[in-house]
Amino acid sequence: MPSLLMRSKIKQWFKKEKREENVEKGREAIERELKRAGIDAPLWMTDDKLMEACKKFAFNDIDDMLSAVGFGGITAAQIATKLTEKLRKEQEESSITELTSEVKEVKAAEERKPRPTNGVVVKGIDNLLVRFARCCNPVPGDDIIGYITRGRGVSVHRSDCPNIPSGTDDEEAARVIDVEWEHAIEANYSVDIEITGHDRRNFLNEVLQAVSESKTNISAVSGRSDKNKMALVHMTILIRNTDHLQSVVEKIKRVKDVYTVHRIMQ
Ligand SMILES: [Zn+2]
Repeated sequence: MPSLLMRSKIKQWFKKEKREENVEKGREAIERELKRAGIDAPLWMTDDKLMEACKKFAFNDIDDMLSAVGFGGITAAQIATKLTEKLRKEQEESSITELTSEVKEVKAAEERKPRPTNGVVVKGIDNLLVRFARCCNPVPGDDIIGYITRGRGVSVHRSDCPNIPSGTDDEEAARVIDVEWEHAIEANYSVDIEITGHDRRNFLNEVLQAVSESKTNISAVSGRSDKNKMALVHMTILIRNTDHLQSVVEKIKRVKDVYTVHRIMQ
């Protein structure tokens, strides 16, 4: 689709939503986000701090930014994160994430980070929140499409994801837009994989070692085995692109007694 047409389509979408209502919704959402984090909202939502956030996300003024939050073009969490930047810097040093599994306790090589919201561009549109769908966890190299959600910005799926609403409905079709990977973005994307194999001594250890040899960080792992000694390991790994993913999968497949390695779609 030509980008001008797409741009006007999204603008129309924005217009449909009432601006004042969105400004109010946006303000409340940010307050809620701060409260949930146990932060004194009035203290951290001053005009000064809001203006700083405006600059960071390239909005013209505070109302523009709040209404984008209300519409879902950007998340309250993103703004709240910016507002409380200083506070978090002090807290970050003391937090460590511990991950447990039924089979073994594993310490993540890297603390789990929020999913990056950049790395994907919608042609010709600025300030539009792009989210990665949790169902199919796209990584750079995957074919992707965007879907304009109600109140939650653009959701990016792998183009073969079964959760993309299809059908001939005009309204549904109008919500699908072209998106593409931005070049030169170095980021880690969470990918869920499932490994099956014969549960023998050291099976999980060797699988974990294969992952770490491929210089890949694990953010979560869990495993179980049934009475037939069939092991099922579920792992969330941090991946740069499809080539990287492919190399990890190959490495795991080479572990003795591994039957299958799959990337999971929910
Ligand atoms: Zn999906």
